[in-house]
This record gives sequence, structure tokens and C-alpha cells, in this order.
Amino acid sequence: LVRFHGVRKSFGELEVLKGIDLEVAPGEVVALIGRSGSGKSTALRCVNGLERINAGELTVCGRELHGGKVDLRELRQDVGIVFQSYNLFPHLTVEQNVTLAPRKVHKIGAGEARDLAARVLAQVGLSDKAQNYPEQLSGGQQQRVAIARSLAMRPKLILFDEVTSALDPELTGEVLRVIEQLASEGMTMMLVTHEMAFARSVADQVVFMHQGRVWETGTGDMLANPQTPELRQFVGNGL
Ligand code: ATP
Ligand code: MG
Repeated sequence: LVRFHGVRKSFGELEVLKGIDLEVAPGEVVALIGRSGSGKSTALRCVNGLERINAGELTVCGRELHGGKVDLRELRQDVGIVFQSYNLFPHLTVEQNVTLAPRKVHKIGAGEARDLAARVLAQVGLSDKAQNYPEQLSGGQQQRVAIARSLAMRPKLILFDEVTSALDPELTGEVLRVIEQLASEGMTMMLVTHEMAFARSVADQVVFMHQGRVWETGTGDMLANPQTPELRQFVGNGL
């Protein structure tokens, strides 16, 4: 579903991605881990076209992002992204937040929107909050609304960038459980996370990035048995 081949990305003089190779198969969960500044967010942002790559090839849901014109609106219908900050509209209800984009893009009517909201809110365990406003919810619940909003577009792939980093530990678990549930339903996901135990348990593929490169990659078990000194040091500090 996603294929990075020799992907390079610079910001001015600073080369942040130095030739990334990475593949994500349909239904796969890939966790990106690594130190601050190693290029994890940048790699993720390239996937839905928030950043444009400078060299190499990047194919996402059958679209060549290194080619000429890419319809970013179409790409982003296939690729959802959820950030650390939930960015919900405070003056809209949960249901309105979740259905805003599909109503606009897929031109669905009010009844269909209500059904859609009910379905995706059930997926994140918030069926009873449809008529609440964001400020009436906890941080963990707001983040689950943000995930539901992404699901409402029926994406083929969802990107998560440190979605639990702003949450208290007791709220982190409820968000991670939603992601785990999506994984078991076969959703393809790429997630940047500092939750090593979670990466180990949920990811089919763990990718350790270091200084703009894929330094080491494997299943979750590689975290227990690092092959490089850099990963050994990272998990030593991180666990
Ligand atoms: P963190 O764990 O802190 O989120 P990260 O691995 O996600 O780190 P990136 O956000 O991808 O790291 O950033 C990689 C490098 O690129 C950093 O040195 C950062 O300062 C730089 N960078 C990222 N975005 C930009 C930008 N828009 N303009 C200039 N430099 C940028
Ligand atoms: Mg980041």
C-alpha cells in the first residue's frame, strides 16, 4: 500500500531523510520509533503529501508522489492522519465534527451522516457522546473523536503521529486500545510512538529510524534483541 524507495527530503541545507526504503502491506501495522529529530514525523507527513519528497520514489495507494501532479485531495481521502493535538472544532458537536468532511466531500445527506457517525463513534467506544461538545470530553475521548473523524472518510490507511504524547498515562491506554482494535479489524496503519511496549505488541513491523535513515527494522521482538548499538541504546533509554 506504501512503498518508499530511496526517499530523500531536505529542509534547506538540512537533509532529514537520507534515502528511506520501507514498505507497508495492506492490513499491516508499522511502528516508527527513534530519537527526537530522526525524521519520523517527516516520513509520515510525506505519505499524505504534507511534505513533498526531493528524491527517490514514494508510492501511496497506487499514486506516485514523486511523479508530476498528484491530486492531494484525493490522496487524503485515502490516507487519514491523526496528530498529537486533536484539532476538533469547539463549536461543533462530536457528531458534527466527525461528519463534516464526509458531508462535504462525499455529499452525503443528514440521515446517512448520522448513521456514519454512529458507526465510527461505536468503533472508538463513544456512542453516547455524539451530541456533546469537545470541551465536555476528556483528552483521551477527544483523541478518540479525532480517530473517528478520520475513520469517517473510510481511509485505506491511517497515520498516527504520537497521538498519546499529550495524554496522561491513564488516558493513553484507552486510545491505544482503540488503535489495537483497528489493527485487529485489518486497518493499515503507520504510527510514530514512544510507547515501546505498545509498538512491540501491536506492530507487524517496527522501524527504528536514526539520523534520517532506517537503521534497523524487524518484528516487535527486535526491541528485545537489538542488532545495532544505536537501537540498543535507544531501547535502553526508552524502556
Ligand atoms: P520528534 O520525536 O521530536 O517528533 P521526529 O523524528 O518526528 O522527532 P522530524 O519532525 O521528522 O523528527 O524532524 C526531523 C528534522 O527535520 C529535525 O531536525 C527538524 O528540526 C527538521 N524539520 C522538520 N520539519 C521542518 C520544517 N518544516 N522546516 C525545517 N526543518 C524541519
Ligand atoms: Mg515527530
